[in-house]
Parts: sequence; C-alpha cells; structure tokens
Amino acid sequence: MRFLLATHNMKKQAEMQRILSPLGIEVLTADMAGVALTDVDETGETFRENAFLKAYSGCRESGLPCIADDSGLCVDALGGAPGVYSARFSGVHGDDDANIAKLLDALRDVPEAKRTAYFACAVCVCFPDGRKLELEGRCNGKIGYEKRGNDGFGYDPVFLVGDRSFAQFTADEKDAVSHRGNALRKLCKALPDYLNKE
Ligand code: IMP
Repeated sequence: MRFLLATHNMKKQAEMQRILSPLGIEVLTADMAGVALTDVDETGETFRENAFLKAYSGCRESGLPCIADDSGLCVDALGGAPGVYSARFSGVHGDDDANIAKLLDALRDVPEAKRTAYFACAVCVCFPDGRKLELEGRCNGKIGYEKRGNDGFGYDPVFLVGDRSFAQFTADEKDAVSHRGNALRKLCKALPDYLNKE
C-alpha cells in the first residue's frame, strides 16, 4: 500500500519509511508521487488538529491515503512552549539554528534539574473513503546547554536522552525511543485490524 506523506521534510519521510516498511507501506512525498499539494496553514491549537488538517487536505487533493505528522518540543520550564510553534519559535519558519539559539537563551538561567522537556508527535492517516486513524507518541528528555552531534534535524542537537543528544543517536537508536517512532509503532499495531474492517 502507498501512503502519500504531507510534508517536504525528507528526514521525516526517511523516519516514517523505516518504521512502516515492515507493513509493506511505501511512504511517498508529493514530489515522489508526482502530485501537487497546497501548503496547509497549521492553524490548530494541538498537534492532533494540525496533523489532521494536513492529512485531510492531502487526501482530498490527491485521492490517495495520506499520512501527516505534527510534532514539536514542549519544555516544562517554558510552560510547554514552543509546542505547536516549534518550527517557527524564532519567528522564521524552519530556521533550526535560530530556534535553538532562542531556546538556549530562554533557558540560560534554568538549572539542569528543571530543564525537562518532551517531544510530542501526532500522526493522522486519512483514507479516500472518509475514514481516519489518529495516534500520538511522546519522548521525554532534557534540554542541554549547547549543541551536540551532527545527525538528525530541528532541536535534535539540544535534546538529551540520557547523556547524549538525539543528534548523537544513530537512526535506529532514535527510532527506538522517539516520539515519532512511538506514534508510528502504535499505527503499525492498529493498521492491520483497521484495514481488515474495510
Ligand atoms: P512540523 O513539521 O510542523 O511538525 O514542525 C515540527 C518542528 O518541531 C520541526 O521544525 C522541528 O523543529 C521540531 N521537531 C519535530 N520533530 C523533531 C525531531 O524528531 N527532532 C528535532 N526536532 C523536531
């Protein structure tokens, strides 16, 4: 089965493809599927609402089952910010370096014990027959004092699980504990039953 993925983020595509491959699901970006998708305004107040907005629009425009995730970083000392605004925390959408700089600055006087945070991920799949599946995953960690590691994307270099940042994890290590991994594993469990009820 082929799922259209409503994102241009190739790192997310790779993470989703790795985890959904065992179910025989091919995850295609709009470019890979040769379809044009309208950029959706993420106007939802929750990750779940935004994931639905993106998956619903992608499915309606393409006629294909469409999967979308909405994810972000919630920092306890900042009352859960940046949350759904993670990608545009600094004011410029998708500027990872500026977002991290703003985060480290906001936490400069916060002691280690209070630097707790979690990544959250909502995944939604919309099917052309009108049905939808929604799942969520989380990963707890802490915000470091400086960037560490070269892999990953977004806030990975400052998100610590144990004594390493996500940017120091291999892809498989990150999948095993990440918010997206946890949400997609729930999807893997739910999907076979769900498809049998067609
Ligand atoms: P989205 O693409 O609208 O879901 O925005 C998510 C934002 O949250 C991204 O721009 C990243 O800054 C951040 N984010 C989400 N997932 C991750 C992750 O796995 N690692 C690092 N940052 C992430």
